[in-house]
Amino acid sequence: MALYVQKFGGTSVGSIARIEAVAERVAAARARGHNLVVVVSAMAGETNRLLALGAELAARPDPRELDALVATGEQVSAALLAIALNARGVPARSLLGHQIRMRTDGAFTKARIHAIDDATLRAVLDEGRVAVVAGFQGIDAAGNITTLGRGGSDTSAVALAAALRADRCQIFTDVRGVFTTDPRICPDARKVDQISYEEMLELASLGAKVLQLRSVEMAMKHGVPVEVRSSLEDGEGTLVTEENAALERVVVAGVAVDRDVAKLTIRGVADRPGLAARLFEALAEAHVSVDMIIQNVSADGRTDVTFTVTKGDLAAARPIAEQALGEEQSGLAVDETLAKVSIVGLGMRSHAGVAAKMFRLLADAGVNIAAISTSEIKVSCLIREAQADEAVRTLHDGFELARPD
Ligand code: ADP
Ligand code: ASP
Ligand code: MG
Repeated sequence: MALYVQKFGGTSVGSIARIEAVAERVAAARARGHNLVVVVSAMAGETNRLLALGAELAARPDPRELDALVATGEQVSAALLAIALNARGVPARSLLGHQIRMRTDGAFTKARIHAIDDATLRAVLDEGRVAVVAGFQGIDAAGNITTLGRGGSDTSAVALAAALRADRCQIFTDVRGVFTTDPRICPDARKVDQISYEEMLELASLGAKVLQLRSVEMAMKHGVPVEVRSSLEDGEGTLVTEENAALERVVVAGVAVDRDVAKLTIRGVADRPGLAARLFEALAEAHVSVDMIIQNVSADGRTDVTFTVTKGDLAAARPIAEQALGEEQSGLAVDETLAKVSIVGLGMRSHAGVAAKMFRLLADAGVNIAAISTSEIKVSCLIREAQADEAVRTLHDGFELARPD
């Protein structure tokens, strides 16, 4: 008997009718003889609703209580799906993070999985039941409920697939697979049949939320084959897997956009050793993760240090950027009206001129570039957020991503 882990996202369990459709799908897989662990997200909109309730009571709610709060969303959908399955004669049991000992560190709202004790799950499967697991949640060493960051049910599913050595991890969502860019922004985006872990990792880290970044990291580390497919219609999805000969040999595989960007520029910083270290050590200590960093000495011997963080980290980063360098800086400017557009592709390793083409396309569309960063397989540009959709379509067109092979 093959073991499948199937994950259903928020839209896929967003109503009673949708949960019934998921139950039908699970029942059909069961009838084909598969052992099944099904991971569910909260019903669409529920996590946001719960966070908004917390925000009504405190400007910055205690993160421990936020996790206790939002974890309830997945408890509801797991129980509802188990009820729907049992009602169809498919024996099922819902299981919360603590019941399957999904052990994480204690970093509330962005916890990392350390270990899963698979004994409970195996016992449920051995009894011939479908295990319906609440995604997104775990438990720390002190017994607190933790959550894995927004979109974290993807990571729950991949972690379970790795721990149980499942034959496949299927991520059912509201699009047919991984596309060359977000199909909601660019209607002629094309579904890709296969994509490498590396490209998917870059796309996820650059804003393509179809898979949570950590789920891709974990799939790559443990060699879990991940299939992204639609819960709303049948048909092959996208296989995320090792780079191999069968993969499409394209220079640019996809375009991503990230609107969760805040840019901080510290002006007039003295040009001497140790200041960058002091600033970024202070940010690291406050658990602020910094994305782009740009520094350049001007003719007067002073530097502007520019860096970007997520909007959520801005409140923590701002006072540090204001104070860390004391007298050695002359001012701070913050910009929250930017977005980052990126192109990603393994083929960039061996092709010259890809960045130049990106800049030309953006220039011809009248899009100004505020900052640039590159890696071996990606180029990112910071642009005005108001132009983000247009920039995505321009790059998607310009790199001919819609063109059939
Ligand atoms: P779920 O609730 O199932 O986890 P998400 O909303 O987290 O679903 O992720 C699916 C969404 O990701 C799609 O609806 C789509 O708008 C968005 N998306 C962004 N980039 C891409 C891409 N390259 N391919 C497919 N979907 C993408
Ligand atoms: N419900 C959580 C969220 O909205 C986790 C998930 O959907 O994967 O972020
Ligand atoms: Mg998601």
